[in-house]
Amino acid sequence: MLRIFFRKKKTCLDNSVISIVFAKENKMGRLLVIGCGGVAQVAIQKCAQNNKVFTEMCLASRTVSKCDALKDKLEKQGTPVKITTATVNADDTADVVKLIKEYQPDAVLNVALPYQDLTIMDACLECKVDYIDTANYEPEDTDEPVWRAAYEKRCKEKGFTAYFDYSYQWAYMDKFKEAGITGLLGTGFDPGVTSVFVAYAKKHYFDEIHTVDILDCNGGDHGYAFATNFNPEINLREVSANGSYWEDGHWVETKPMEIKREYNFPQVGLKDMYLLHHEEIEALGRNFPEIKRIRFFMTFGQSYLDHMRCLEDVGMLSTTPIKFEGRDIVPIQFLKALLPDPASLGPRTVGKTNIGCIFRGIKDGKEKTLFIYNVCDHQECYKELGSQAISYTTGVPAMIGTALVLSGKWKKPGVYTTDEFDPDPYMEMLNEFGLPWVVDENPVMVD
Ligand code: NDP
Repeated sequence: MLRIFFRKKKTCLDNSVISIVFAKENKMGRLLVIGCGGVAQVAIQKCAQNNKVFTEMCLASRTVSKCDALKDKLEKQGTPVKITTATVNADDTADVVKLIKEYQPDAVLNVALPYQDLTIMDACLECKVDYIDTANYEPEDTDEPVWRAAYEKRCKEKGFTAYFDYSYQWAYMDKFKEAGITGLLGTGFDPGVTSVFVAYAKKHYFDEIHTVDILDCNGGDHGYAFATNFNPEINLREVSANGSYWEDGHWVETKPMEIKREYNFPQVGLKDMYLLHHEEIEALGRNFPEIKRIRFFMTFGQSYLDHMRCLEDVGMLSTTPIKFEGRDIVPIQFLKALLPDPASLGPRTVGKTNIGCIFRGIKDGKEKTLFIYNVCDHQECYKELGSQAISYTTGVPAMIGTALVLSGKWKKPGVYTTDEFDPDPYMEMLNEFGLPWVVDENPVMVD
C-alpha cells in the first residue's frame, strides 16, 4: 500500500525557499554527496542500488570531472536516480552553503576528508540539513597556533596525542538539537560498523561487556611495494602516531607499533597486528562506561612498516610546510602525489579483509566471549563496483547510515556516533548491501 505524506523541503536561515512537495513513502531522498574519491565512489554507487531511499543525488567535489564520470557510469547502467554534479570547495563554508541552498538536499554526506568536517557541519547547521560523515575531524595544518594550543592542553588532560578527537564535533550537540537536525558521525567500517557491532552485542548477547578488541585485518595484496588503501595523508598520519587504548576509565598511551600480537583471522590466516589509537574508542569509552578495556589492532606487513619508517625518518610524513624551489610544499602532500591513488588499486588487489570486534563480558551471571566480524573479498568488490575492499567496506556503511537518517529510523536531533542508535536495522542492511557478518560464540581471544 502506498501512503502519501507531506515533505517539507529544508529551508535555509535566510528563509529563501520553503516548498512543500508530495512524496510517496520510501520516495524521499535527495542527497548531496561531497567528495568523489575511493570511499565516495562506493557510497554513491550503493546509494544508487538503494534507490527506494535515494531518489536524487548531487555529486559535488573539488574535481568535478570525477563526479561527471561516475554520473555517466551510473546513467549508462540505467539508474533511476536523478543525478546532477557540481564543483564545491568544502574548505569554504560559504561555498557549501551556496550549493545547499541551490540543491536543497534532505541530507549531506561528507565523504571528502576529515579536514572538511567542521566547515560542512557549519553549512548544514546554517541550512538546517542533516549531516553524515565517516571520519573524525582533524585539522589539515597541525601547526596552526590556536588549534595547537588546544591540542596540547587536550593531550595533557586526556592523555592521548592523536591529532583527532571528538570534542570539536560533539561541541555541535546543542546547536544541532536546536536546529532539529541529526549529525551522524563516523559511519564507515571502523569507526562505524565496529561501533554498531558493540551496540548489537550489548543488545542481544551481553548483560555487561567488560572488554572489546577491535581487529582490522587487511589480507589484500596490491602488488606494490608501498601504497595505502585509503587517502595516504590521513592513513599515514594515523598509523605513524602513538598508539593508545582505554582502560579503567582512562587512556594508556604507547609508542607507535609498540604492542604487537598475532591473530589467525577466519578466511584470511595468521597476521601480525599492532595496537593503534582509533577514534571509536573515545566514543565507546564515553557511551559504554561499563567496558573496562577497549583496544584497536590493525594488521600491517613488514614491507609497509619498513617503508613507513623510512619515509618518516627522512621527514616525508611531516605536515609542516617546507620551502622547495621558492614555494611552500607539505611533505606528506607531496608524497600523496607520488603514491598510487587508492581508488586505482581495485583491479590489482587480491585477498580478503576481516574486520570485527571480540568481546568478553557477562550474560546471565556467566562469563561469555563473542566475535562479530565481516569478511570482504577485494576482487568481489572490484567485480561489483570497480573498487577495492577498503573503499567498499567504508562506502557501504556510509550509505547505510545516510539511508537510516533519511528514512527517519536514525533521525535524532543532535550529534551522535553509530553506537548510539538501535543497531538492528543497520545490521540488517549490512547483510542486504554486501557486508554480511558472522557471529562466533567461541572465538580465540587476544591476550
Ligand atoms: P580520497 O582522497 O580518495 O577522496 C577524497 C575526496 O574528497 C576527493 O574526491 C577529493 O577531491 C575530495 N576533496 C578533498 N578536499 C576537498 C575540498 N576542500 N572540497 C571538496 N572536495 C574535496 O579519500 P578516501 O575516499 O580514501 O576517504 C574519504 C573519507 O573516508 C576520509 O575522510 C577518510 O578518512 C574516510 N575513511 C573512513 C574509514 C572508516 O572506516 N571510517 C576508512 C577509510 C576512509 P579531489 O578529487 O579533487 O582530490
